[in-house]
Amino acid sequence: MHLSRFPRRFLAHLPTPLERLDRLTKELGGPEIWIKRDDCTGMSTGGNKTRKLEFLMAEAELQGAEMVITQGATQSNHARQTAAFAAKMGMGCHIVLEDRTGSNNANYNNNGNVLLDHLHGATTEKRPSGPDFNAVIEDVANEMRADGKKVYTIPGGGSNPTGALGYVNCAFELLGQVNNSGMQIDHIVHATGSAGTQAGLITGLKAMNAQIPLLGIGVRAPKAKQEENVYNLACKTAEKLGCPGVVLREDVVANTDYVGEGYGIPTESGLEAIRMFAELEAILLDPVYSAKGAAGFIDLIRKGHFKKGERVVFLHTGGSVALFGYDAAFDFSDRWS
Ligand SMILES: *Cc1c(COP(=O)(O)O)cnc(C)c1O
Repeated sequence: MHLSRFPRRFLAHLPTPLERLDRLTKELGGPEIWIKRDDCTGMSTGGNKTRKLEFLMAEAELQGAEMVITQGATQSNHARQTAAFAAKMGMGCHIVLEDRTGSNNANYNNNGNVLLDHLHGATTEKRPSGPDFNAVIEDVANEMRADGKKVYTIPGGGSNPTGALGYVNCAFELLGQVNNSGMQIDHIVHATGSAGTQAGLITGLKAMNAQIPLLGIGVRAPKAKQEENVYNLACKTAEKLGCPGVVLREDVVANTDYVGEGYGIPTESGLEAIRMFAELEAILLDPVYSAKGAAGFIDLIRKGHFKKGERVVFLHTGGSVALFGYDAAFDFSDRWS
């Protein structure tokens, strides 16, 4: 597998650190917990979309695009990282934001990721939630193309076979880190949404025959739908890489028990996970993705799903900027004296 055959714009801070979480491990009394710091990929505070955008934005540049268009929820980390890449590469960026939560909280609508979208020079528009926002941005792009603009569209979350290459590369990177330090790992866990992260990881892991189970913790879709999305994208990614059929349906496992009321709506267990990671390990999670992933991870540890003596890696996909759009989810009145 030779990823250098694909165009890539090297802007991420890689490799991301792999760190042991001693205090969280002790608190939970289960497996040894490690964290892969993909919240530290660099671009505009980092996050998992940066690895995907290295490949997507290189393709955009190669096609001569002057402008990229993408879509996401109001507090989309993907939108913010795309805006940052466009700024760095001297391209225009337009973002169609989907109102998935109906929140009219001022910070949710203007602070956090939205503030950074605008700081990087992107333009935004908001539309009511709908079934197919990737189709919406194609329509927006076609209008601009009719005006003679060269536009490249990036699907929500950067999740297509090109973007997923970033997580094939992450699988190689993580395996390289553990192999070179003589460390064995037994499981990898992360938050899964638009499917590109899990699809890329499972394709890379299977292509290397790593034999490490991967578990995605869902943040939106029900289990069957989530697994189908990941599997379909993994199959296309494997084809693009020249190893079709390497991912089997049973390799794709998602647990969607921690979504709560819905996408972007904080859960009690997610807020507990945010406080535990912040207070025990000084690591910031976000309420939309990484906190729900961590909540599932913590609950599964408490239920004995991972055994003592095993080594489990939680892939931190980033998102902490969204905390500033979700301050209303926390009550810290007891911290004041
Ligand atoms: C987008 C995102 C995810 C989910 O990754 P997908 O590739 O969309 O499945 C997880 N965590 C954070 C912080 C994200 O922004």
